[in-house]
Amino acid sequence: MQNKYTKAGISHNIVFNWYISDICQYHCSYCYANNISILNTKMSKNIEELVIKRLYFVKEDFEINILGGEPTLNTRLKNIIQNLNTNKYCKKINIITNFHKDIDTYRELNISNKIYFTISYHPEYYSKKVLQKIKKFNTEANIIFLINVDNSVFSIIDEIGDIPYELNFLTNTITFSVNYDNKLLSKIKDKYTTHIGYIPHWIENTKYSINEMDCNTISYKGWHCLNKTIDIDILGNFKNICENKNLSITLKEICEPIICKYEYCDSCKGFYHEKWR
Ligand code: SF4
Ligand code: SF4
Repeated sequence: MQNKYTKAGISHNIVFNWYISDICQYHCSYCYANNISILNTKMSKNIEELVIKRLYFVKEDFEINILGGEPTLNTRLKNIIQNLNTNKYCKKINIITNFHKDIDTYRELNISNKIYFTISYHPEYYSKKVLQKIKKFNTEANIIFLINVDNSVFSIIDEIGDIPYELNFLTNTITFSVNYDNKLLSKIKDKYTTHIGYIPHWIENTKYSINEMDCNTISYKGWHCLNKTIDIDILGNFKNICENKNLSITLKEICEPIICKYEYCDSCKGFYHEKWR
């Protein structure tokens, strides 16, 4: 789609994606970790402590996603959460999990009102037992059920009752190519509009809401982008999600705009970042 817009995106806090494990009980065919998984291990205690210290250089509000692989396979997860919880600039700690473990594992992690759980639906490993566990936990914690969209999406939506959910469109990985059926996409656009993301775009002063599915086809190459999403890899390196270079120890570059070098943006990189020509 020809990009006729002059500005796009949403103002938001800094977001860290902290990968504390690159192992998982599952082997989903579309796993995004296939792009990054290199060591088949968990973050070590020394690296963990260094990361916690570096986060104290950040003097504005931030949110942090704890993920993997499967983060609950790192036995230091509770310790990590306790440390993050004491950082006054850390406003939200979001544990992204496949919810495979016993429910008590998750209860023990729910130590403050900063804690959120994003529980992902993986169609290749779905069972009614997991859904029952999620329904129970929904009454005790802040959760979002993140439904990875495939052909089973409508039947799972019918089963989940009042669990809050969002739809997540799969992205290409080095081992998986997305191939959605147009009928499925049209049905989602028509019937499930409140469960997909909308990104504001402007042409001069006129605002438009563009859904995530259509953002996939817009190129922002050459635009300025205030991409404040920072990956922290298993070795403790901090990298802007769209730049392949390490940030300085004090993380002072986090809020500097970068020039987009990609033909297309996607939900992993972050449609929602503020960007302008
Ligand atoms: S549950 Fe998540 S991390 Fe594990 S294999 Fe599936 S997509 Fe990858
Ligand atoms: S691909 Fe990255 S740099 Fe380009 S617009 Fe998207 S988030 Fe910004």
